[in-house]
Amino acid sequence: MILRAFFFDMDGVLFDSMPNHARAWENVAMRHSLDFTARDCYINEGRTGQDVIAEALRKSGRTNVTEEEIWTIYREKTEEFHRLGGAPAMTGMKEVLNEIRVTDTPSCQSQIWVVTGSGQKTLFDKLNEVYPGIFMRERMITAYDVTHGKPAPEPYLKAWQRSGLPKEQCFVIENAPLGVRAGKAAGLFTIAVNTGPLTRQDLYNEGADMVLDDMGQLLTFIRLHSYVETQILPLYDTFDSAHNRQHALAVIQESLNLVRELTLRQSPLNNRDLSAPLSAASPLISYAIAALHDVGLQTDREHHHLHSGTFVRRDAFLKTLFPADEIELMAQAVEDHRASRPEPPRSIYGRIVAEADRMLEPMTVIRRTVQFGCRHYPELSEEEHIKRAIAHLNEKYGEKGYLRLWLDTARNRQLLAQLRSMMTDTRQLQTLLLRMLKEEKTAQ
Ligand code: CA
Repeated sequence: MILRAFFFDMDGVLFDSMPNHARAWENVAMRHSLDFTARDCYINEGRTGQDVIAEALRKSGRTNVTEEEIWTIYREKTEEFHRLGGAPAMTGMKEVLNEIRVTDTPSCQSQIWVVTGSGQKTLFDKLNEVYPGIFMRERMITAYDVTHGKPAPEPYLKAWQRSGLPKEQCFVIENAPLGVRAGKAAGLFTIAVNTGPLTRQDLYNEGADMVLDDMGQLLTFIRLHSYVETQILPLYDTFDSAHNRQHALAVIQESLNLVRELTLRQSPLNNRDLSAPLSAASPLISYAIAALHDVGLQTDREHHHLHSGTFVRRDAFLKTLFPADEIELMAQAVEDHRASRPEPPRSIYGRIVAEADRMLEPMTVIRRTVQFGCRHYPELSEEEHIKRAIAHLNEKYGEKGYLRLWLDTARNRQLLAQLRSMMTDTRQLQTLLLRMLKEEKTAQ
């Protein structure tokens, strides 16, 4: 049975309250000649009112401010917020919550939590009024439950502890950079839904595992996740140990890390133009590709990448989530994931999955080299094995080696540098190879 917990932030996730907060701050800032924009409001979301005011004053170069003025600004902002009207439900959120309830079958059960810095006593009634029958009092973490609010990890750690589930089965849903920081500091998979005017980079900068554009995409993710957990990952349980469920999960996480790294590398054209579209790899498409890249192993090993492509093109469920052109992009990417393919992958998605699938971790590379030698040249002596392994490592991974990386990423550079530094110390490398050789021979 699949168990999951979703930890929803409130402002900017469950309620579309941020535009009124931003407008209230802007109006009050103008009245007090403070340099504080709507963007500043979104960047500082999660801090207490007093901390936000202190930040606005600091940014405006105002140092000699009285405690009284701070309270005046705070009171005016609160009045302004209420004058602007209530906070409506976030567009698309009802569908998300209903989907989670619908997928609640005996094989997949989800907990729905609220994790907020808010301390309103009437919070539960308000939630129940807008989203009837979804939330439970005992599944709420509010300002009253914690000593240190976001961006400290405490609120999310508390929710996780009370959920009783392993961390891998918990999801944080946030909209603000400081909330993302809290989710990541708690060691949880954190999805940022960019419901405000920030850039994707603002949210990826804090380490978000995925940045989605709206609740429609979150709905797609939740459906995709249920499908992957119940239909796809069990296939990997039948594959060999180099292609098991752990491998699939590692490729998924690494693909998402690469999407983050690539997005952060593209600086937004203009930070002030908050509506400027940013073309970047979609984390949803990358997630699906990573989950499906090895499913063709069911059919046969030699051409498994091509069988994975056929699987993706024929899959009826994927067609309910993605348009035809995106499915074709996914099919090509899984076909292109094999490291031994001489041509470069046809799209950025193929490059991402090929790189995520590539095991450059030095000890893994060295052990695989030894294993290959044992399998293909059983007649060699120990000395000859070591010689062959060193020659292969230099030919492929040396400074002038034939290894081609499809993406120049920080992780690849770092792992390759580690491997090369191990290769320069020949005596130590020989010792390591001899040890691995003996281990492999014993294991045979
Ligand atoms: Ca929020």
